[in-house]
Amino acid sequence: MSNRGMLIILSGPSGSGKGTIIKRLLQERADTVLSVSATTRAPRPGELNNVHYYFKTRDEFEELIRRGALLEYAEYNGNYYGTPEEPIKEWLAQGKNVILEIEVQGAEKVMDHRSDLVSIFITIPSMQELERRLRDRGTETEDKIQGRLAVARRELARAFRYDYVVLNDEVEFAVERIHTIINAEKMRYSRMEKTVLEVLENA
Ligand code: 5GP
Repeated sequence: MSNRGMLIILSGPSGSGKGTIIKRLLQERADTVLSVSATTRAPRPGELNNVHYYFKTRDEFEELIRRGALLEYAEYNGNYYGTPEEPIKEWLAQGKNVILEIEVQGAEKVMDHRSDLVSIFITIPSMQELERRLRDRGTETEDKIQGRLAVARRELARAFRYDYVVLNDEVEFAVERIHTIINAEKMRYSRMEKTVLEVLENA
C-alpha cells in the first residue's frame, strides 16, 4: 500500500516564474502532478482546453459552483478560476502529490478548510527585478505592468499565510528548494503512517 500523496499549494505574483518552476519540477518528479483548473478566461494562443485549463462559460462555471464540484474558486481579473475536487481525491489516494497553482484568495480558502496541505509562496528578489521581468516579456502595456505590480504587492503581503517561501533568484535553485520541501514533508509521521503500520503488522 502506498502512503497518501500531499496537496501542495503554490502561489506567487505574476512574473515570479511559477510556471517555469512547476514545469521543471514535474519533469523531475514522477510522484507529482499538476491540477488542471477551470476558468472563464479566454484561451491564450497555444493553450489547449482540458490541458492548460478547462475553459468554461460563466454559466458552466456557476453550475460547477452549485454542484459543489470545486475545492475552491476565486474571481481574479474579472474571471472565475477554480479547482475541480474529484481528480485531486483520486490522485492523493493513489499516492501522488498534487500541485495547485492558484492565486492567494483561493489558496487562503483551502488553508482555512484543510490542514493536510503544504503551501509554498514563490517570491522574487525585489520589486525592481519583478518590474524588469514583466517588461522583458514585452507583451504588456505600461498600464498592465503597473496593475500587475500593484497586485504583486498585495500578494506578497499575504505570504505570511504560507508554510514556506521560496526565492526565485535562479530557476534551478528555486526548483531545488521545492524538492527539499517536498522530500522533507514526505517524511512527516502522518504521511509515513502506513509504512510504520505495515512494519508493525508484519513483525
Ligand atoms: P492566468 O490567467 O495567468 O493563467 O492565471 C491568473 C491567476 O489565476 C494566476 O495567479 C493563477 O495562479 C491563478 N489560478 C489559476 N488557476 C486557479 C484556480 O483554480 N483557482 C484559483 N484561486 N486561482 C487560480
